[in-house]
Amino acid sequence: MKIAILSRNAKLYSTRRLKETAEAKGHEVQIIDVLRAYMNIASHKPTIHYKGEPIEGIDAVIPRIGASVTFYGASVLRQFEMMGVYPLNESVAITRSRDKLRSLQLLSRKGIGLPLTGFANKPDDIKDMIKMVGGAPLVVKLLEGTQGIGVVLAETQKAAESVIEGFMGVKANILVQEYIKEAGGADIRCLVVGGKVVASMKRQAAAGEFRSNLHRGGSASLIRITPEERSTAVRAAKIMGLNLAGVDLLRSNHGPVVMEVNSSPGLEGIETSTGKDIAGLIIEHIEKNAKPGNTKTKGK
Ligand code: ADP
Ligand code: GLU
Repeated sequence: MKIAILSRNAKLYSTRRLKETAEAKGHEVQIIDVLRAYMNIASHKPTIHYKGEPIEGIDAVIPRIGASVTFYGASVLRQFEMMGVYPLNESVAITRSRDKLRSLQLLSRKGIGLPLTGFANKPDDIKDMIKMVGGAPLVVKLLEGTQGIGVVLAETQKAAESVIEGFMGVKANILVQEYIKEAGGADIRCLVVGGKVVASMKRQAAAGEFRSNLHRGGSASLIRITPEERSTAVRAAKIMGLNLAGVDLLRSNHGPVVMEVNSSPGLEGIETSTGKDIAGLIIEHIEKNAKPGNTKTKGK
């Protein structure tokens, strides 16, 4: 097969691993920096050009589109879909997962456990909004944040009010969320490939920190997940329409709650902590499923 990896940086661990693994299995791999691809969108025959040449004969595309290039990256991926190329994750599913609020709405509609969450643009009554999600302590999150940046724990009513007012003051969109204290600063990353949890790890926040992101000093370790956690992760990935997903769960008093569903989960932490060949499983999933036009949405 000819596989294209959409990635801005060929040196990144996940990109490298996917390329090496696909090549070892006899496939041809082309890495495409999405921002440098250009497209003819107004023709009967959609095309993508790269470095002066049309991209042709691709059987499958692996999107590794960073949050900062979601908009253009999803357009390039959509163009591949219009050309009938099989995407590991579809453009619609990626765009959906990048919007935290939209994701939570879709998950709640299907009854997935979630932290009690409020969303606001310009709340005219901040006190009532705080009451709505159960009062302090609570977590305030910037909608556009990643890697734990813009996630704040407000321990008292007064702190919550001033954090919310502060974010409002800079016109940021925020989520206000019940603080899952009993998670003890740990979350669980479940890696879902083709409807199965193939690996999971626990991430524990550094001392004095409640955010477990590895970028915030958290540490990863092995964990056995419960059948309920497993089925929650599988269902969450399915609802989002993702074949590859990193589903982040917290262990709450009311069962597993989904924090976020990531459509471009990094492979380094999970491969290192579990010793599993996740890249191999991803390529095998593609080998089984990459048929022309085998997408649900074709970008629609
Ligand atoms: P990001 O997308 O920036 O990683 P998250 O929403 O995943 O932001 O939050 C970062 C981390 O903060 C989570 O991995 C988790 O450890 C912690 N966290 C986030 N929300 C809550 C919450 N409601 N209760 C307890 N811990 C939380
Ligand atoms: N094609 C639809 C859209 O992009 C899908 C909507 C959905 O996320 O369910 O709006």
